Amino acid sequence: MYEFDYHKAVSVDDALKSLTSASDGKLLAGGMTLLPTMKQRLASPDVLVDLAGIDDMKGIRKEGDQIVIGAMTTHAEVNLSALVQKEIPALAELAGLIGDPQVRNRGTIGGSVANADPSADYPAALVGLNATVTTNSRSIAADEFFVDLFETALDEEEIITSVSFPLARRAAYMKFPNPASRYAVVGTFVAELADNSIRVAVTGAGGSVFRQAEMEAALGKSFTADAIEGIAVDGDEFNEDIHASAEYRAHLVGVMARRAVAKIA
Ligand SMILES: Cc1cc2nc3c(=O)[nH]c(=O)nc-3n(C[C@H](O)[C@H](O)[C@H](O)COP(=O)(O)OP(=O)(O)OC[C@H]3O[C@@H](n4cnc5c(N)ncnc54)[C@H](O)[C@@H]3O)c2cc1C
Repeated sequence: MYEFDYHKAVSVDDALKSLTSASDGKLLAGGMTLLPTMKQRLASPDVLVDLAGIDDMKGIRKEGDQIVIGAMTTHAEVNLSALVQKEIPALAELAGLIGDPQVRNRGTIGGSVANADPSADYPAALVGLNATVTTNSRSIAADEFFVDLFETALDEEEIITSVSFPLARRAAYMKFPNPASRYAVVGTFVAELADNSIRVAVTGAGGSVFRQAEMEAALGKSFTADAIEGIAVDGDEFNEDIHASAEYRAHLVGVMARRAVAKIA
């Protein structure tokens, strides 16, 4: 580690002020990604702005037909929330599949979404459920939020304050986890939304979460695992690493999608 200033913000405005006055300030949420990155010197902020003291950024509530989750809400809180379990059980279940108990007790939805790891689980839920990311200055639809590998639509000094998930008719998430970290080698979130539209969102396979349009169209005609059985997934641009080849990931997209549909059915 090296020297840096630490500021525990008391409000979103206070965090923003501290961030904009630093030459290379960074927001600290659960620290599950940021602190190891700093230890490896891949990031060296001069100021760390801790969001943990901002009560407005915590908690889960229902607003009309949306579940609104504060950015500083931990994965464990989402997993154990009676409200999320009742209204969007697939989302509660997804949060419970993230990492290990330590990661779930520290990691936050805002930190995960801002980090946009290509193998993270939440991006699949945000895109699958047509969620909206709210920041200190605007609202961003999930479809526009995730841009590329570790890249989002967030401006340099923009703070996620919450994520809103519309209630779905039915949804399920299935992932093939990396056995060590539990990150998704491939994860597929399938949802039928309130307007009857179908979404199939895939994480882990490509540089960023994406929708599988062919499967969405097939499931729109017949919501069965058989309906997507023959759909070939093009893995040419997929991730390739020691855990799985691009070809294997392409195969897993179909397997996970069919398992998610079967689970819903
Ligand atoms: C061993 C291990 C296993 C893991 N397994 C999984 C897994 O299976 N699935 C999975 O999805 N994830 C996994 N993770 C990631 C984990 O879930 C965390 O969510 C993730 O590391 C980031 O969340 P955080 O709250 O710790 O953010 P931090 O590490 O504090 O921050 C991450 C980045 O987001 C920025 N940021 C944080 N909050 C905000 C905000 N409100 N607005 C704007 N920017 C912000 C920070 O500045 C930083 O750049 C794993 C992590 C570890 C260490």
